[in-house]
Amino acid sequence: MNPVDAADVAFRDEVRTWLADNLTGEFADLRGLGGPGREDLDFEARLRWNRHLADHGWTCVGWPAEFGGRGLTMSQQVIFHEEYARSDAPGRINHFGEELLGPTLIAFGTDQQKARFLPKIRAVEELWCQGYSEPGAGSDLANVATKAVRDGDEWVIDGQKIWTSSAQVADWIFVVCRTVPGSARHEGLSFLLVPMDQPGIEVRPIKQLTGGAEFNEVFFTGARTAADLIVGEPGDGWKVAMGLLGFERGVSTLGQQVGFERELGELIELAKTNGAYDDAILRDRLAQAKVELDVMRVNAVRGLSGVIAGSDSSAGGGAASIGKLVWANWHKRLGELAMAVLGPDALALGGSARHADGVGGDSPVDRWQKLYLFTRADTIYGGSDEVQRNILAERVLGLPREPKGTA
Ligand SMILES: Cc1cc2nc3c(=O)[nH]c(=O)nc-3n(C[C@H](O)[C@H](O)[C@H](O)COP(=O)(O)OP(=O)(O)OC[C@H]3O[C@@H](n4cnc5c(N)ncnc54)[C@H](O)[C@@H]3O)c2cc1C
Repeated sequence: MNPVDAADVAFRDEVRTWLADNLTGEFADLRGLGGPGREDLDFEARLRWNRHLADHGWTCVGWPAEFGGRGLTMSQQVIFHEEYARSDAPGRINHFGEELLGPTLIAFGTDQQKARFLPKIRAVEELWCQGYSEPGAGSDLANVATKAVRDGDEWVIDGQKIWTSSAQVADWIFVVCRTVPGSARHEGLSFLLVPMDQPGIEVRPIKQLTGGAEFNEVFFTGARTAADLIVGEPGDGWKVAMGLLGFERGVSTLGQQVGFERELGELIELAKTNGAYDDAILRDRLAQAKVELDVMRVNAVRGLSGVIAGSDSSAGGGAASIGKLVWANWHKRLGELAMAVLGPDALALGGSARHADGVGGDSPVDRWQKLYLFTRADTIYGGSDEVQRNILAERVLGLPREPKGTA
């Protein structure tokens, strides 16, 4: 914080104290559970924790108060996410509703949609998932082929989504689909809100190499939703879909870095206990990781200071793409470094002493192996490395656009 603001200091104390007082009793054992790659761990208990947060006003903290949020300033939101990560509180289960759909409805939704959905997102009573990617539409999202047609006062949806995180627990899905027959690319798409619990929707889990199944295929066969559950105008879904992605990497970035710091700290501790720290090359790699993390943090704080001061020059300056490239590759390298620290032990599956602490859950891999395996995904979701580099090349450096396929 710069300069030190007394209100922010008091707020940090308030958050820290509340978390320390409440991560106790039935919630004490939840520390460290959940988060990317570990969404399958102790879901029911984490749901209770998330509702406990909601009961005490600690969900949707950045939403304006009129929509049930806490209306925190940008710096207070950062403080909240930092302290949350620092306390090792369990991973939030409401990311898609709280951080993506909620802000999108606030920006683009009707009054009825806001009144219907925002309170239940805030209370963690309804969970959401994101129906964007399809087998033929990932990086090239405009290739979406799932269709919806009007039938009286409903939309009828046919098609398939894939890699749909948390669809197995979600009550609702927001779906980008084609509502204008014969349209192509960004034209003719719409953004629909669809209930999951209906005969026209089938969720099939996809087992990942970590052993978990956090994401799914979702099949729509005559699935239905009410005609007024469209966000924006019919055919205007691209604007809404891109607006939502703009919320994807918000102020929680600094909280994520605190989480990285803790992971690195724990890896250093492990290296000290298993002897890896005596190896000068490994020590050097750990030090390098620390330096890179510090650079990341300084950059994030600089970017955020610009936003807070209203002098943000990052829009169009590629800050989001650079940030994504840097953190995703850092985290992937941390997974590789964890394997080096474990040494030959990294090759041992299930039943090793490291599973005794329970952090591997039911998975045959322990938390460090899981980190290594799951971080392969970091450079894919949220825009792959290649896509981020294309954005930087074309939109920031002004290099010629790559030719687009016509199929
Ligand atoms: C853990 C995880 C969770 C996810 N959760 C969700 C979710 O909840 N909802 C959802 O809708 N989606 C989700 N996704 C999907 C994610 O958005 C896509 O995986 C991502 O957009 C990439 O699309 P794709 O997998 O189809 O790969 P493709 O787009 O087919 O890419 C394959 C390879 O080609 C490269 N490539 C593609 N286009 C170009 C280009 N123009 N130039 C150079 N290289 C290129 C890519 O970088 C990649 O290496 C998730 C993915 C992961 C890994």
